[in-house]
Amino acid sequence: MTLLRPQSPGTPAPVPSLFSAQYWEGCAQGELRYLRCSNCHLAIADAARICWRCHSRNLRWEVSGGRGRLYSWTIVWRPQTPAFQVPYSVAIVHLDEDIFVVSSVIGCAPEDLAEGMELAVEFHPVNDAIKLPYFRPITGDIRNRSARSDAPPPA
Ligand SMILES: [Zn+2]
Repeated sequence: MTLLRPQSPGTPAPVPSLFSAQYWEGCAQGELRYLRCSNCHLAIADAARICWRCHSRNLRWEVSGGRGRLYSWTIVWRPQTPAFQVPYSVAIVHLDEDIFVVSSVIGCAPEDLAEGMELAVEFHPVNDAIKLPYFRPITGDIRNRSARSDAPPPA
């Protein structure tokens, strides 16, 4: 059975910007961060400079509970560069905070992905400085595990 897995360290990595650095610091610490507007309380998934609803510059970082549901996905068999191992998923996850993030689901077969399946975030290193957020289906075995756990999946 083909199992979706995290990419091995050494694949092309994101380069934090002035605005996204706090997001990537959160990932390194096992936190999935997002911005919230202090004026209108909108949750924003991107490393934005202003609120796209009320145009306030008063945004603050918050930490997601790391849970959500699979909204949409595709399976990649022909990667952008040979550095990526296939197959992998590119997934849109609808977080419980009502924001949508692009990530990758791991820990199941591609054919097991289903709209609305419950997911929990976990982080895997791509190099010494950057960890990427991935999402794993919540099953009976891991339902009670911490969302921040780096533990391998149950055998
Ligand atoms: Zn706002």
